[in-house]
Amino acid sequence: MKPQHPTFPEPDDAAARRAMSPVTCYPADCLPAVDLAALGAARDGWQRIAAVTVPPRDAGCFEVPAGHFFRISSIGGPQVGDLNLWSADLSERFYSGKTRALHGTHVSTGDRLWSSFPALRPMATITADTLDWYGFDADGLSVHDVIGTRCDPYTHNLLTGGQYHHCCHSNLTRALAAHRGLTLEQAETHVHDVLNVFMCTGFSRRTGQYLMKASPVRPGDYLEFLAEIDLLGALSACPGGDCSAEHSSDRASCHPLLVEVFRPAAPPRGWLAPEVSGYDRSHGARPDNPQ
Ligand SMILES: [Zn+2]
Repeated sequence: MKPQHPTFPEPDDAAARRAMSPVTCYPADCLPAVDLAALGAARDGWQRIAAVTVPPRDAGCFEVPAGHFFRISSIGGPQVGDLNLWSADLSERFYSGKTRALHGTHVSTGDRLWSSFPALRPMATITADTLDWYGFDADGLSVHDVIGTRCDPYTHNLLTGGQYHHCCHSNLTRALAAHRGLTLEQAETHVHDVLNVFMCTGFSRRTGQYLMKASPVRPGDYLEFLAEIDLLGALSACPGGDCSAEHSSDRASCHPLLVEVFRPAAPPRGWLAPEVSGYDRSHGARPDNPQ
């Protein structure tokens, strides 16, 4: 059983220690600016070149060339989506934890989805979010988080002993395997922590536990991105539906999601594909004693 805290007595200066002022780990003004006006103008005359409908409790893949846009839309009813992104050659993947450190627990217009080391570059930039009105609610929850991981059959088995095959982790694995001709074992190694599209989440201030509530998304809502590099994406329509009650079962009411890819008439004004990180990767090894 989990011990009841506190186990240890407070020191005399506990109040003073708690009263220290926090600082922002990564101030937003350190990041390269996003020209949202130029990105918005690129919608004029754009052409829809692909559309994928993701069935409920399943996933679909899509490809987006650098400088193109993609949009994830709610259709049919409130539904949460779990998004994975890779570079087209699968060598880079979305880095949820670093995106959270840079932008916060939830992302919206102007925030970027960053890639794994050693590239650490923007893979996609959010250019529109019809749920940006939601903000943080009275429970401290908000929309589009990078704090959850993805529902998965291993955690389900850990907690219940059961076998369930349509968690987002499995949906993403099956979709990637089918799309790229990989085995399930190969595909599973590429599946990673997601952007929880449309999901409404936060942490309990009292216990720190991960909370969710019914997503405020309605049909017609969308989250739109610019692809900063050539992307392969996979989106799962979570078996939790609007995630108002539970994951990892067939009980929730689930709906499809739509992914559309748009080619602008010209590259967005001033846009340049991002370079990989400028770090030299020597990690402090001395030239006379390379590791
Ligand atoms: Zn899920």
